[in-house]
Amino acid sequence: MICALAVACGGDDWEDDEDDYGKIDHAGVITGTGTPSPVQTQEVTPTPEERKLVLCLDPGHGGRWQGAIYFKCEERNLVLQLAKEIRAYLNEHYPEIEVYLTREDNNVFSNDIGPDLRARVEFAVEKKANILVSLHLNASESHNLRGTMVCISKQPNINGISKELADCLMDATESLGLKRRGYETRNSGDTFDENGVPVDYYAICRHGSSLNIPAVILESCFMDNEEDFKYVKDEAAIKRLAAAEAEAMAKFLISHYGSNQ
Ligand SMILES: [Zn+2]
Repeated sequence: MICALAVACGGDDWEDDEDDYGKIDHAGVITGTGTPSPVQTQEVTPTPEERKLVLCLDPGHGGRWQGAIYFKCEERNLVLQLAKEIRAYLNEHYPEIEVYLTREDNNVFSNDIGPDLRARVEFAVEKKANILVSLHLNASESHNLRGTMVCISKQPNINGISKELADCLMDATESLGLKRRGYETRNSGDTFDENGVPVDYYAICRHGSSLNIPAVILESCFMDNEEDFKYVKDEAAIKRLAAAEAEAMAKFLISHYGSNQ
């Protein structure tokens, strides 16, 4: 299949480097700080001018992490293109939404997966983002799974709002014909908070909870399945997916964070 981003790849070896979105590092130790820091509760009432809507997009992987590689395409490149198309769409149609990307190219914050994923969430917080959406593409061992899945935090401070955001995103991809796989939450098997409750397994969600920002991982489709891969196979397909996801993000931001004056 022709790919708009035909990139020479090193073979189908991504599983050896399956840090993905920072689940567990190579030593099998959960990355990041482990115990979430206390939720920040300070409340400052912004002026209307300050109530700009802010979206942070995190194109997954990058740096030495290629992500999945199928049909001669690397996940890290496809999700970067998707992020840029979402930003372009929002800039054109929703100028009131400020959009930041955690990376513009293959440069990442750190070559260590743990600090890198933490830095991505800290970047979103620094930019005062309302939400952080980490963009990924899925793959399965059987190569026959399809559809959109959203990984969200189980922690109560962001679980509810993450579910709403996930629903909004899945409504959008479903409207394009993608199967709706639903939410995914996962507990760490070996790291617990001070009350003995397991922390989130997915680093982006875990740090999102500890820094009190709704942070979800959007797995738009399965790039190892030919039918799903059609959704990212070339520039036109990515633009179409980006427009639907951008509309969903805009709708969510406006309904949850928009000022009504
Ligand atoms: Zn990924």
